[in-house]
Amino acid sequence: MFSRRTKIVATLGPATDPPGVLDSLVAAGLDCARLNCSHGTAEDLRRRAGEVRSAAAAARRSVGLMFDLQGPKLRLSAGIMPRIVQAGEVVTFFGGEAAASDDRIAVDFVDFPRLVSERSEIVIGDGVPRLVVESSGPGEVVARALSTGELAPRKGINVTYARPELPAITEKDLRDLALAAELGADFVALSFVRSAADIEQLRSLLEERGWRGRTVAKIEKVEAYEHLDEIIEVADGVMVARGDYGVEAGVSHVPLMQKDTIYRATQAGKLVITATQMLESMIHTPEPTRAEATDVANAVIDGTSAVMLSAETSIGEYPVEAVREMSQLAEAAEEFPEIHGRARAGVRDTPAAAVMHAAVELAEELDAVALLVPTSLGGSPRSCAKYRRRRPIIALPHDQAVADQLTLEWGVYARPMPMTESVDDLIESALLTAKDFAGLPTGARVVITAGRQTGAAGATNLITVREIP
Ligand code: PEP
Repeated sequence: MFSRRTKIVATLGPATDPPGVLDSLVAAGLDCARLNCSHGTAEDLRRRAGEVRSAAAAARRSVGLMFDLQGPKLRLSAGIMPRIVQAGEVVTFFGGEAAASDDRIAVDFVDFPRLVSERSEIVIGDGVPRLVVESSGPGEVVARALSTGELAPRKGINVTYARPELPAITEKDLRDLALAAELGADFVALSFVRSAADIEQLRSLLEERGWRGRTVAKIEKVEAYEHLDEIIEVADGVMVARGDYGVEAGVSHVPLMQKDTIYRATQAGKLVITATQMLESMIHTPEPTRAEATDVANAVIDGTSAVMLSAETSIGEYPVEAVREMSQLAEAAEEFPEIHGRARAGVRDTPAAAVMHAAVELAEELDAVALLVPTSLGGSPRSCAKYRRRRPIIALPHDQAVADQLTLEWGVYARPMPMTESVDDLIESALLTAKDFAGLPTGARVVITAGRQTGAAGATNLITVREIP
């Protein structure tokens, strides 16, 4: 656990439900379990969330819990007749239910025509057919197919450069979000984010429900990538959601978007998850392909905070092997001499951030076995993670929820420790907790940060060098 810095997210599903599988995923290195709200019932979400907490407690480890909200996903209506559209063919779409006699294509969002702008393209399923809009008027949209592909009931439909008529957070999302708040999900990801305002809305809805979960913006729309810096500024993290981005922008545009998103997120000190098809072949085979191994390694070398498994674990035949492989691949790639995405040393906006940067550098210079960071809200270990240095950062919050919200931070390992009366007690307690947690040997040198325990962010103002008792 302390030898790999990049974190692993795995999506739960039917393949992880049998008794013992989740425990094995945790033992294999799972850092955060993702519940994809697009699938399963509210009861499934509740049950799986409970199982994550139990597996973490049994393993005495912090394991994050992520709710991934479906967002405004559009689908073709359930009543349409399946048919192949040929490149060059002109097709008419409308919003509502399909009538048997209608040769137009129904989309299950009544206001569909109002979404489509002059710049829009319409993309079906995983990318084909792709259609360019020829005209849109009240009630219908006429589009010409650029590629051949199938239209079938309930198939996904993406509209690039859609007008904002579609709500960022749907009725279904509100129900899932209420459950996420009730269950204290550590991370709440939102699909099909278009702007920073979507994430601000997500955060205020969570706060209205009494929960400050960490927000993750999924970058999967062209508009989101165009507004990336504003989104990174307001979100707690971003996800490079390669599946839907590949549908919208075309697969050839995925690699550079990924590299750029990882770079910009890490420079801003925000966590970034690289997702989708990373070990896709492992849905059916126990070993990844060489190309998949290289894909994981490249994301790690670029500095991604976490790599994610989707169908590999949720419905795959080898969920435990997939987590184990991911862990080994990430750890091997971290031997690369320099992790590219590390934040420039100059990014220090507050005195507390400068103290944390100094502590990171001191730990390097002294070849300390670890940097110990007592924390109330998690901000101090977060501000160390962005430098992507090799020293493990042992975060010591007072609260299990804060520890769980640190599970996606690169190189950070969190274990709660009790409140103390004085700074001296804090340091002694940090030494003993870290010794037990990370198995640090007596006499090993560590760097510890400390401060007045006001419970407020940014109170760290001391650095000390000690040996493990
Ligand atoms: C994606 O599209 O890449 C993604 C991560 O989202 P989902 O799994 O919800 O499709």
